[in-house]
Amino acid sequence: MAGYNTLSKEQLNEELVKLKEEYAKILESDISLDMSRGKPGEDQLNLSMGMMNVLDGNSDYKTTVGFDCRNYGLLDGIPEAKQMMADIMEVSPENVIVFGNASLNIMYDTVSRSFTHGVLGETPWCKLDKVKWLCPVPGYDRHFSITEFFGVEMINVPMNEDGPDMDMVEKLVSEDEAIKGIWCVPKYANPTGVAYSDEVVRRFAALKPAAKDFRIFWDNAYAIHHLYEDESKQEKILNILEECEKAGNPDMVYEFASTSKVSFPGSGVAAMATSKANIAFIKKQMGIQTIGYDKINQLRHVKFFKDFDGVKAHMMKHAALLRPKFDAVLSMLDKELKDAEIAAWTKPQGGYFISLDVMEGCAKKVVSMCKDAGMILTGAGATYPYGKDPKDSNIRIAPSYATPEDLVKASKILIVCTKIATIEKMLE
Ligand code: PLP
Repeated sequence: MAGYNTLSKEQLNEELVKLKEEYAKILESDISLDMSRGKPGEDQLNLSMGMMNVLDGNSDYKTTVGFDCRNYGLLDGIPEAKQMMADIMEVSPENVIVFGNASLNIMYDTVSRSFTHGVLGETPWCKLDKVKWLCPVPGYDRHFSITEFFGVEMINVPMNEDGPDMDMVEKLVSEDEAIKGIWCVPKYANPTGVAYSDEVVRRFAALKPAAKDFRIFWDNAYAIHHLYEDESKQEKILNILEECEKAGNPDMVYEFASTSKVSFPGSGVAAMATSKANIAFIKKQMGIQTIGYDKINQLRHVKFFKDFDGVKAHMMKHAALLRPKFDAVLSMLDKELKDAEIAAWTKPQGGYFISLDVMEGCAKKVVSMCKDAGMILTGAGATYPYGKDPKDSNIRIAPSYATPEDLVKASKILIVCTKIATIEKMLE
């Protein structure tokens, strides 16, 4: 098959007829597939079931410092959980607060606190006429939902292969005091899989924002979520806390991480890493919000993983289950879509997503045709603030939940729909 743009109108029409026959057959078959959310598969959840046996009615519930986890106390987490989360984020435990079951909740609370009580003594954002935010796109829909919920004006920043467009970030934050934050997923980004280069991380750390209370929301959700055991295929990024400190901006970043896709999503352990000044400020509110988070869950995690080597070994078990799923989708795209030269997609080395860019103006149609055929994809536009992809071109593929066999079927449907939508657009 030649590239579609080399085909004549007649040839495109012939191709369209064949594809529509294929699509009609797909519609007749009773398919129900879901590639919409980045949920671990059941086999991945089973990897952590041993965690349910590390504590029982006869166990010792004391931490290394002799604290009884069954009781109130230790607001910012038990020491060994702080160490585990510090290792995941490659920071010192002194810079870590362990919170509850999920990191999104910490991000929400951090934005919310900034609105009601400001950031380190600055004016609460709710008292400002306007709060703006930078959003590298495509990005994570739930980040955008948080800022949208608080009425923040979101500004799209294009993603390059090594991170967000830093010329644009530098210019905007230095000129506009209303810009208070930026969402970042620095490693195996959702959905592009991009890892930020050293230069990008350093440029972030060296930003000179007009707003004193500008903060980088560094969501390192996929810090240890490699797909390959071979270290040369594992992305490494610079430590943003260290770089901010070196650049004289120690308070400018909040880093987030959780074990949602290490142990159990929704029942993991989540943490923030940041400067001591930010920690002291946040803990003042935290102590009012709660007497403490679930320390028994923290202890269960630490007893199960033992140490950071245990966490890393566990992640390789996840990788072994995820790799064939990514391979199933990517090899189908390579085999059946590449030659048509009508789409581009990422080949991530970690994380949970593949980002597919179809011809401008076609993403919504592809997603809705797939839906009619029984296959659910993340809504077109979801990877952009306000759900609006200006080019209507990006589609997020989440291969983790389905089986490799189903992913082959799902990719086939996606490919047929992409080809039909593209040809119809070309013939308009
Ligand atoms: N951050 C990113 C970038 C994600 O992709 C996800 C889940 O898909 C989350 C955060 C959610 O994390 P948690 O379960 O810790 O709230």
